[in-house]
Amino acid sequence: MAEVESLCDIVIFGGHGDLAFRKLMPALYHLSNNGYLNKESRIITATRVSMSNEAHCDLVKVKLEEFLEEGAFDEEKFNYFKEQLHVVIIDFGDNQSYKGLSTLLGNYPQRDRINYLSTAPDFFGSICQSLSKWELISPKSRVVLEKPIGRDLDSSRVINVEVLKYFEESQIYRIDHYLGKDTVQNIMALRFSNRFFMPLWDANNIDHVQITVAESVGVEGRWGYYDDYGAMRDMIQNHLMQLLCLVAMEPPCSLEADSVRDEKVKVLRSLKMMTPADIQQKTVRAQYSQGSIDGKPVPGYREGVGVEESTTETFAALRVDINNWRWNGVPFYLRSGKRMRTRNSEIVIQFKTIPHSIFANEGRCISENKLVISLQPKESIQLKLMNKIPGLSEEMRLQQVELELNTPLNMSHKPTAYERLFLDVIRANPTLFMRLDEVEAAWKWADVILDAWAENQVPMKSYSAGTDGPTAGIQLIARDGRSWHDE
Ligand code: NAP
Repeated sequence: MAEVESLCDIVIFGGHGDLAFRKLMPALYHLSNNGYLNKESRIITATRVSMSNEAHCDLVKVKLEEFLEEGAFDEEKFNYFKEQLHVVIIDFGDNQSYKGLSTLLGNYPQRDRINYLSTAPDFFGSICQSLSKWELISPKSRVVLEKPIGRDLDSSRVINVEVLKYFEESQIYRIDHYLGKDTVQNIMALRFSNRFFMPLWDANNIDHVQITVAESVGVEGRWGYYDDYGAMRDMIQNHLMQLLCLVAMEPPCSLEADSVRDEKVKVLRSLKMMTPADIQQKTVRAQYSQGSIDGKPVPGYREGVGVEESTTETFAALRVDINNWRWNGVPFYLRSGKRMRTRNSEIVIQFKTIPHSIFANEGRCISENKLVISLQPKESIQLKLMNKIPGLSEEMRLQQVELELNTPLNMSHKPTAYERLFLDVIRANPTLFMRLDEVEAAWKWADVILDAWAENQVPMKSYSAGTDGPTAGIQLIARDGRSWHDE
């Protein structure tokens, strides 16, 4: 059984929304059942719909049965979990509606309070203001902000300035759920606890880095949100940038939150700002048209909702350069898209070729070493190395083999990213959350590209649903004599 964490009250604003039911409640259910949530801690859902605690518990039960992984729902465990569930009726536009929350929290004024804002960012300011008016913010309060934090630097500043009127920066947890994945955290473990990666992790030895986040799903029920954001804002500016930071950052002096975040922000500030010419040559944007996935026809992005006009990209690919000593001349190729051939997220570190081959006949066949970090659908790490094919043949014959670097899981349930991140908020550990300067540095770099795209300086390409994206995405890397990893 896990060490029981300290007492806290967790309030989920937007608690009957999609994210809350699909990710947050399942995460809390597992934490509670695995002993990571103090039995006396309360999970308070804020919703607009008037309902009793009992009706709320019934609804949570139905949703857990729907969204927990197969076999994970257990009636007995749920009966234990539901003791922690409470509901309050709040309309963000009505300050008076916070009275019920105030009464509930007032029962335990000394507890840590975690306010999880699982709402559109337009509400962040007004929720924080109401919490403040009702004197519900204490030094032990924390606030968790879901993405997106704005759609550019200016709008992100507006949101952050609002929240910072009521919470200190140290109390703000800006979530990027990619950082909660075990394999993503393993990047730091691999890099900073293994001697042999240390001298190899630079421009002398690494040819290039690829980061791909491909989804086979479309925008599903989230068209309204997505069409306002697109692949660059929804994925590249945050998730892929955070992954890039973990690969590229210098060793922090400790695992303290600010040491890690200081190093990440240095990377973001070292990103080469693209010129108009760079943007034309090094960025690709595209939207999917009709195609097929798993043999089934799927409509195009606009056809799916019957909209004729939309300039939102569902695919983006970029060559990113980092202006510092370690990475000079090493391109980072990023791409992310919806309705792609397969669901596949990975980071590929491709090392340079050997300087000279002694294997005369095999020389051409020596493949470069690669470290492949797969994030989804399965989480795994492979190191690709050359090896001799066993046997008595006269020539030394070689093949590439894969060294699997995965630690066997000694638990029946693999914790999700949201479990990890919830627990870190409970423990008041912000290492895996984005600091204000990180968010701003990422937007500053992305805005230049987004502005050029908005002015149509880069043509919008098209790709059929169920493919690897537009030809221009393949050409982006092929032009440099390289190709996307595809295995
Ligand atoms: P959602 O399903 O639309 O849920 C939003 C919630 O906010 C709903 O429960 C809604 O209540 C509530 N709400 C809206 N206006 C309100 C008001 N005036 N007063 C009180 N409650 C109000 O959205 P979501 O998909 O859960 O997303 C929530 C946030 O997480 C968004 O910022 C989104 O971008 C982000 N996010 C979502 C996902 C995801 O997979 N869903 C992934 C990453 C990030 P009603 O139910 O009463 O309408």
